Amino acid sequence: MGNCLDCGKKLSGRLDKKFCDDYCRGHYNNELNKNKNTALKEINSILKKNAAILQKLEEKGVTKLTQQMLIVAGFDFNFFTHQLSGQAGEVYNCCYNYGYCFVTENELVLKVIGDRNKF
Ligand SMILES: [Zn+2]
Repeated sequence: MGNCLDCGKKLSGRLDKKFCDDYCRGHYNNELNKNKNTALKEINSILKKNAAILQKLEEKGVTKLTQQMLIVAGFDFNFFTHQLSGQAGEVYNCCYNYGYCFVTENELVLKVIGDRNKF
């Protein structure tokens, strides 16, 4: 016999039981969802920040940028929403409706993604 996944008390009764009762089951699932939502919110806020940084640059008319410019602004290269291919097959990492592509190790081009998820 195992222990309750929520409170850790020893379980009795059916062998496949995982919780003492509905209270423990509900509490356990709520905590699980809370953690999932927290992770989701954290990732969303990183993506939104990335998009906001790209938006600001785009609004200033900047289309060519360096990795350094983005890092200084707090950009996180680990997070993007999806990838799109440019005309020459180059791959753009996108944060919502903004895409960037490395042209050299340190230089990037920035593009706004239009309707139908195309440049
Ligand atoms: Zn319990």
